[in-house]
Order: sequence, then structure tokens, then C-alpha cells
Amino acid sequence: MRLILLGPPGAGKGTQARRLLERFGIIQLSTGDLLREAAATGTSAGLKAHEIMSRGELVPDDMVVAIVAERLSRPDCAKGFILDGFPRTVGQAEALYRLLHDKGLSLDAVVQIKVDEDILVQRVEARVKEMEARGETVRADDTPLVLRRRLAAYHAQTEPLVDYYLRKGLLVSVDGMLPIDQVTAEIEALLAKLPRAGAG
Ligand code: AMP
Repeated sequence: MRLILLGPPGAGKGTQARRLLERFGIIQLSTGDLLREAAATGTSAGLKAHEIMSRGELVPDDMVVAIVAERLSRPDCAKGFILDGFPRTVGQAEALYRLLHDKGLSLDAVVQIKVDEDILVQRVEARVKEMEARGETVRADDTPLVLRRRLAAYHAQTEPLVDYYLRKGLLVSVDGMLPIDQVTAEIEALLAKLPRAGAG
């Protein structure tokens, strides 16, 4: 099973990816996590990525694609993967197509998680307050202001992927405002209807 989870920041892609990987025994590949790891190494590329991420903007395609290409070449991706936060531009989607095509592989589905963005911003505001009250460190890009910038980047650069994958016949959509368990159940039901679902 090779899946993409598509949706704005805060839609629950990471949460759903973690649930699906348990169900299907495949791995989750979050470019946000991989970029945060790269940033933590302190290399000049990592620091540049960190700066861009803190502003809520997108890291350049070539850097993200290189990270994904390296990750997809590892043996643990052989059974399949869930991409969470990638692709985020049409250029990344095309690079992914080429990467998979060269390995004789293709995607099974792109799951769009639809959400109400005003409610998302309210949720982030509430989460930040709770974390601050507990004395926890809030991620630099997890503030309401940066979230609004990330949402703007989503609309400008990532939303075109909805049409892109619709035209390819790969897009399925779920209501991300439902309770977490129900979103998972909806995704599983949609995946069960795919011709190759469960084929690995
Ligand atoms: P995420 O954890 O998926 O919300 O990503 C956090 C941040 O990492 C984003 O706001 C971007 O700055 C950066 N990022 C993650 N994935 C990508 C991607 N596919 N392309 C460009 N930037 C990305």
C-alpha cells in the first residue's frame, strides 16, 4: 500500500498516518519530521531549512525531494508507505511520480482530509495555551500566526494537488472534522474499496 495523506497543517495527517501504519504494517514518512531531524544536525542546509520552517514557508523542492528519495530507497519502504506532508507542490508530485516510476511502482491512493480552517486555528490556539500552561516548549511553527502563514502556503502551493490527483483518478476524500476514530474508519473503508488494497 502506497498512500499520500493530503490536507492543510493541523488536519490530522500525522495522527491518521500513525493509525494506518499499525493497520497495514507499512511505514510513515513525514517530511516535516525528516526536515526537523535535518535541522537538528546543524548542517548549513539543515539550518536553512529550520529558518524557512520557522517562517511557515515551504522548504525548496530540491531539498525535500532529495530527502524523500533517500528515504524511499531504504528496504523498510518495500512493503509500502504513507507519505504525510509530501508532496506539497506540483513539482514534488511530479518528482515523486518519477521516483516511483523508476522503481516500477505507483501510488494506490491520495487521501484528502478536509477540514474547517477557522476551527483548526482555534484548536492550535487552545493547544498552545495548554502547552504553555504545562510549561512545555511550543514548536516555533505551531503558533496561530505561523499557522495562518502555513495555511496560506497550503492554498497557494499544495491545494492544486487536489485537482492534480483527481485527474489521475487517485483522490479520495474524508471529513477530517469527525472524531479521530471515525476519520480512521472512513479512510479504512475507502481503502478497502481500492482494487489493490492490502496487496502490499
Ligand atoms: P509538517 O510537520 O508536515 O507540518 O511540516 C512542518 C514544516 O516543514 C512545513 O511548514 C514546511 O516548512 C516544512 N515542510 C514539510 N514538508 C514539506 C514539503 N513536502 N515541502 C516543503 N516544505 C515542507
